[in-house]
Amino acid sequence: MERILVLGTGAGTPINCYNTCFILQNDNKYLLVDTGGGSGVIKQIRDVGVNIKDIHDCFISHKHIDHLLGIFYVLRVITSMMGAGVYEGNFNIYCDKEITELVKNFFVQTSYPELIEQFEKRVIFHNLINHEVLNIIDYQIEALDMYSYECIQFGFQTKLRNNKILTFMGDVPCNEKLYDKVRDTDWVLHEVFCMESEEKIFKAREKNHSTLKDVAEKMEMLNIKNLVVWHTKDNNIEKRKELYTNEAKEYYKGNIFVPNDLEIINI
Ligand SMILES: [Zn+2]
Repeated sequence: MERILVLGTGAGTPINCYNTCFILQNDNKYLLVDTGGGSGVIKQIRDVGVNIKDIHDCFISHKHIDHLLGIFYVLRVITSMMGAGVYEGNFNIYCDKEITELVKNFFVQTSYPELIEQFEKRVIFHNLINHEVLNIIDYQIEALDMYSYECIQFGFQTKLRNNKILTFMGDVPCNEKLYDKVRDTDWVLHEVFCMESEEKIFKAREKNHSTLKDVAEKMEMLNIKNLVVWHTKDNNIEKRKELYTNEAKEYYKGNIFVPNDLEIINI
C-alpha cells in the first residue's frame, strides 16, 4: 500500500487547519515529511490512523517554524516511548546541517535529562546533500535543493514500488533549474498560497510562494500527471477544494488534488 496521509494543509499560522505536513506510507513503513508548527502534529498523526511508534524517519524541508516546531513534540513523545521500552530502534531525521544544530541545541536545552539521554543515543541526524540518494522506508529518495532564496530548502524525488515518480517540492515555487528533474513525473506535491483572484490580498509571489494559476500553468507545461496542492491560506477552507479545483482545471489538464487535513491519497 503506497499512500500519502495528509496531516495538514495550511501555510504560516493557520487556525482552521494544521500546517502542511504529511506521511509517505510504503506498506508498514512511514516517512514523516515536515512537522508543522506545534503539538498538533501528534493529534494529526493519531487521527490519520498511524501509531507514532511506527514512525522511524522524518524529513524536514527547511527551518521555518511552520515546518519545524512540531519536531520537538514528536521527539518528546518518541524519546519518552524509548525510555519506557515501547519504541524499537532509532529515529532518523533527514535535514540540512543548520537544522541539525538547531534541533539538537533546542531539544537539549528544553527537555528532561532522561529524554535527552535517549535523544543522544537513538535519534540519528542525516545532513542532506543535493542529489544524494538515501534509502528511506525502502525507497531510494534523492534529496533535491529547491533553490529557495530565503533559507536552504530541500525537497525530494523517489520512484515508488509501482514505478511512478513522486516529487515533493517543499513550500517554494518550482525553480527553473528543477524543470528537467520534475518534467513528466507522475506525482508532484506543490505549495499554493492562494488563488489568482486573491493575489492582491495575500501577495503570494512577494512571499516566495505561488498562486494556483502559477502552479497549474507550470505543471501543465512540465506534463505532470497528478498534482497535489497544499500549503494554502486557510480562509474559506470549507469551499477550498471546490474553488481551487475549478481554478486549476482552467490551466491544467492532469489530475488535481486539493486535500483537506487527514485525507488519504492512494499513489
Ligand atoms: Zn511554509
